[in-house]
Amino acid sequence: MRRFILPSEKLEAEEIPLEGDLLHHFQKVLRLNSGENILLLNGCGLICRCRVELAGRNRLKAVVLEKWREEESVFPVHLIQALPKAERMEWLIQKGTELGISEFSPVNTKRSIPVLSGQRKDKRVQRWRRIAEEASRQSERPYVPVVNEPRDLAEVLLNCREEYRLVCWEEESRPLGAALPDLSPSSAAVLVGPEGGFGQEEIELVKKCGFHSVSLGPRILRTETAGFTMATILQYVYGDMGKSGPQGIKGKRI
Ligand code: SAM
Repeated sequence: MRRFILPSEKLEAEEIPLEGDLLHHFQKVLRLNSGENILLLNGCGLICRCRVELAGRNRLKAVVLEKWREEESVFPVHLIQALPKAERMEWLIQKGTELGISEFSPVNTKRSIPVLSGQRKDKRVQRWRRIAEEASRQSERPYVPVVNEPRDLAEVLLNCREEYRLVCWEEESRPLGAALPDLSPSSAAVLVGPEGGFGQEEIELVKKCGFHSVSLGPRILRTETAGFTMATILQYVYGDMGKSGPQGIKGKRI
């Protein structure tokens, strides 16, 4: 069943007008007719199964048939990513969303790609958030991951809330396998450096903030590859990858 994400306030009504881009998409692209069932989500766990109906000349509405909340089975991973080249960050957000990442924090480090400022930065962040929304819709996640504004590394480190903290460092000899606790932590933050790597003083600050440095093996991975690798491994070891089948439509009816 096709699914679309709308702001929470739109999902409060029992009949939801389908307007603007969504109406155009329904009529011109999907050629959806009245009577079809769709899912409308708010991206924070609320799901409405609806029937599309005509709402007067050239207008459509979604009549809510049932509503429920669905929790995610993912292991919460917060990826703190030194800013790579623009299109790589987009690709990282798309793939990281499919892999179950819950939060993205782009950070400026000594050698990362300088972040834009002002309007161009706002536009870039909006685009990243649209990509996260589209990827969560496509991968049938009930939640859209949080995409934060770019901030300086120190600020993100000092505000890190995750229980277990890992920094991928290609000069570290300790392998990842030796750093993962047997008992699943409640959440994990993963820090990945820029194409040019971390400065020595950055690594020292990161370790002071409780991050365990780990090696991902003998090969030097691209910055975006390291983030995926960590997301996949953590989701496999502590999350739902390799442990459960399709989400299916489960959750508490409301
Ligand atoms: N310093 C590397 C060099 O000079 O080629 C470049 C850094 S690498 C392209 C980008 C980031 O990916 C690193 O800062 C690190 O976070 C991560 N990374 C890449 N390969 C890694 C490995 N084998 N072990 C741990 N982290 C790695």
